[in-house]
Amino acid sequence: MRPTGRLHLGNYVGALENWVKLQETANSPTATEIFENYHLIADYHVLTTNPNTSEIYKNTMDMVIEWLGAGIRPEASPIFRQSQVKEHAELFLLLSMLITKERLERNPTVKEQARDLNLEETLVYGHLGYPVLQAADILLYKGEVVPVGEDQLPHVEITREIARKFNSTYGPVFPEPEGRVTQFARLPGLDGRAQMSKSLGNSILLSDSPEEIKAKMRKAVTDPQKIRRGDPGRPDICLVFTYHRKFNPAEEGEIRTGCESGQLGCVDCKMRCATRIADFLAPIREKRAYYEAHLDEVQDVLIDGEKRARAEAQKTMAEVRSAMKLGEV
Ligand code: ADP
Repeated sequence: MRPTGRLHLGNYVGALENWVKLQETANSPTATEIFENYHLIADYHVLTTNPNTSEIYKNTMDMVIEWLGAGIRPEASPIFRQSQVKEHAELFLLLSMLITKERLERNPTVKEQARDLNLEETLVYGHLGYPVLQAADILLYKGEVVPVGEDQLPHVEITREIARKFNSTYGPVFPEPEGRVTQFARLPGLDGRAQMSKSLGNSILLSDSPEEIKAKMRKAVTDPQKIRRGDPGRPDICLVFTYHRKFNPAEEGEIRTGCESGQLGCVDCKMRCATRIADFLAPIREKRAYYEAHLDEVQDVLIDGEKRARAEAQKTMAEVRSAMKLGEV
């Protein structure tokens, strides 16, 4: 994830929740797949849309606090900053020779970002190439599974293509990783846009208080045909219902019937949803408060994670250089 500030619900249900689940399989004797996880803070990637680095440290700490609050255990899975493991930059450069400019220009995610952020005329070279850096991020640790939201799947595909190209050119070094999405791989935003995103300003943050969540929910868009209580609504096209499905599954049936019959008004429906979301986030907010008061522990997590990631990255780069005959004497 990019350290661009506090996380939102989309980041949680699309990625972070899955990370915690995959981490637990490492401890489960009955798991069919056992994972060793690596959690990368993509600080180089922030520069693709924002050259200003004055907030990067604060944003990094904020994000790590939320990862820890959500249940990531750093002793099991290293947490580290991309910029502190130089091998990311080296592998990025080598991999960038294995993909064409045309292939990168066809990437739907970068096109979507350029459109949403009005960058069509000002997209920087590093932004176009960021899936290649992401391929380096994954392949450096010989990643086999990449748990991401739907918007990132095209990048996992690019990573697979690059891995294949490297292996067929220089010999087998990398696995071909697979993307893994959750049931809520693209959580819609409060404004009804397809994706909740920080840059679109349509998100509920993990750190929002119950009052803030209620205030945001009040403004959320609903079925435009349901204007007042009594009008029958269409839950399947309503984003508030999507949130109920995730955060209030016990009442999903009742909410659907109430909405369709018109008995449940949108304001009531939204407030019930806001309460459930606030309950869901309460333990994360509580743990956040602990880590905010113990920033030295968070710093130690990074120092330790960076040491472990570096050791792994150095091993892979030695294999890469040897396969490519770089530095041979
Ligand atoms: P943002 O777009 O808010 O800057 P990032 O690009 O840093 O978020 O995404 C971090 C992770 O969260 C990625 O795996 C991404 O796919 C996932 N993600 C982001 N927004 C959503 C969403 N609305 N629904 C599901 N997953 C999401």
